[in-house]
Amino acid sequence: MKFGTKVIHAGLAYDSATGAIMTPIYQTSTYVQDGVGNHKGYAYSRTLNPTRHALEKNLAAIENGKFGACFGSGLAAMDCLIKILNPGDEVISTNDLYGGSFRIFTTIFEKYGIKFHFVSMDDTTEIEAKINENTKMIWVETPTNPMMNIIDIEAVSKVAKANDCLLAVDNTFATPYLQNPLDLGADVVMHSVTKYLGGHSDVVMGALICNDEKIAKEIYRIQNSSGAVCGPQDSFLVLRGIKTLHLRVQRHCENGAEVAKFLKTHPKVDKVYWPGFEDHPNHDVAKKQMNDFGGMVSFTLVGNKLDDALNVLKKVEIFALAESLGGVESLIGHPVTMTHAAIPKEEREKTGVIDTLIRLSVGVEDVEDLIADLAKALN
Ligand SMILES: *Cc1c(COP(=O)(O)O)cnc(C)c1O
Repeated sequence: MKFGTKVIHAGLAYDSATGAIMTPIYQTSTYVQDGVGNHKGYAYSRTLNPTRHALEKNLAAIENGKFGACFGSGLAAMDCLIKILNPGDEVISTNDLYGGSFRIFTTIFEKYGIKFHFVSMDDTTEIEAKINENTKMIWVETPTNPMMNIIDIEAVSKVAKANDCLLAVDNTFATPYLQNPLDLGADVVMHSVTKYLGGHSDVVMGALICNDEKIAKEIYRIQNSSGAVCGPQDSFLVLRGIKTLHLRVQRHCENGAEVAKFLKTHPKVDKVYWPGFEDHPNHDVAKKQMNDFGGMVSFTLVGNKLDDALNVLKKVEIFALAESLGGVESLIGHPVTMTHAAIPKEEREKTGVIDTLIRLSVGVEDVEDLIADLAKALN
């Protein structure tokens, strides 16, 4: 099955009771048993719920994986995955990453004796420098947020395999339409389903997908034991959102390219970060591992004056000033005061997150309107 067919059909069956073409919302906590221990595969909805189950199968299929697990948020999915580790274990992570990921690693799991190293993954030298016998996981986010660096998943997976540690990839920005980390050697894929997979800014959800049965068993054990699951209504909304994932992301990519090119020629814009540019430092890796370059674009302003950036944020009318990304509507964000406020100034400036850095989640509106909106705000 090809991608556009999978998003609509994979893992889904018409409802056997009624023929309903859409997966019903099984808004139930429990299931009546014929006799003790004799149920139809569903005993209690924390463990498994039919609507969530359909979504987990569909998500696994579109990531070319065997097992999917959904959670109440992207961070809840990460929380589950890190709980596979033990005190004393070490994780090597991308240094330019989602602020909430940095926060859960450093303020939640370091307390429990797991050590995190944050390194540049432009190539694998810094990873190899930090690897030791305690290293149990490498955490990759690519494209990175908000700097749009591209990390070579295949190259990192070779280092992970040679050193017997798991490779986990946060595939939120790319989506399964543009990039399939499991095919490139990753062991686990994580998604903030909140973003492109949901796609309509109406759900907060996370997911893990993997191929290995042993890892899957651990994920399901922790999913059930810690209990950070998502509800059936949200599962339904995401199933509905995913049906148009390929159409939406295609348009996000087209609009993202147009907006990036417009910004690059604007006199008030200093740098534009978008992996589709040939002079982007990781353009070749992006071309190798992604089908297109996505709808996320970041840029800075000439002079780097905070007030100039705040002015642009104030003047846009179609772009909405908001956290998050990946919905049909265009959003504009300011990492320094919003998503990355949790990261110390010194740490963030090392990776390029400076005062005038502005991040766009380019939506699927008519791109002429989006460009006119930015032109007006910049002038
Ligand atoms: C939003 C996001 C997360 C966290 O997901 P939530 O659903 O907000 O908990 C993790 N990684 C990336 C790249 C994100 O954009």
